[in-house]
Amino acid sequence: MLGSLAIERGDFASAATTLSEARAVAERSPSREHLAPRIAAEMARLALYQGSLDDARHHAAAAHAAAVEHECRRCGAGIAATLVEVACASGDLALADARRTEGLEHAFRLGLPVASAEIRAASANLLAAHGDIVGARNECIEALAVFEQHGPTYLAERTRRRIAEIDVNGKAQSA
Ligand SMILES: [Zn+2]
Repeated sequence: MLGSLAIERGDFASAATTLSEARAVAERSPSREHLAPRIAAEMARLALYQGSLDDARHHAAAAHAAAVEHECRRCGAGIAATLVEVACASGDLALADARRTEGLEHAFRLGLPVASAEIRAASANLLAAHGDIVGARNECIEALAVFEQHGPTYLAERTRRRIAEIDVNGKAQSA
C-alpha cells in the first residue's frame, strides 16, 4: 500500500513524499486509526532501507502502539513483518520473536494467507540471525509461493531478493 512500491523500487525520495502526503490525508480521514499504524510502519521500513535504524525503531514503536491502541488485528497483521525486520536489524531478537508471534496470531485469526506469508518471510531474518539458514530459506520459499499465487508482486520481488541474500550470506558463512 501507499509508499510500498516506491520503497521497494528504491525510490526513497518519492516514497518519503508519498508517505508525508498520506499522513496529512490520514489525519482527516474517517479511517485514520487504521491508516496511522500502516503509515508509521511504512516510514519504519523506509528508514530501515535508508540505514536510519533509530528512526526505524521510533516509527516501528509508534506503529505498534497505534495498532494496539485501537485493538485491531487487521492492522496488527499488516504491520508485523516490518516490525520483525526492524527489530532484527536492531539486534533485538527477543522483540522480533514477540512481534512475529503476535502478527502470525492476528493473521491466523483473520485468515489472511498473504499477511502470514509476509510475516514468515520477514521472520527469515530472525532464523538467519539464529544461524538457521536452511529454515530461513524455507520460510522464504514457502512465502514466495503464496505471493506468486495471490500477489502482490512487490512482495514476491522482495522475497526473491531475500532468498538471494540468504544464499550469498550462507555461502559466505560456509566458506
Ligand atoms: Zn486497524
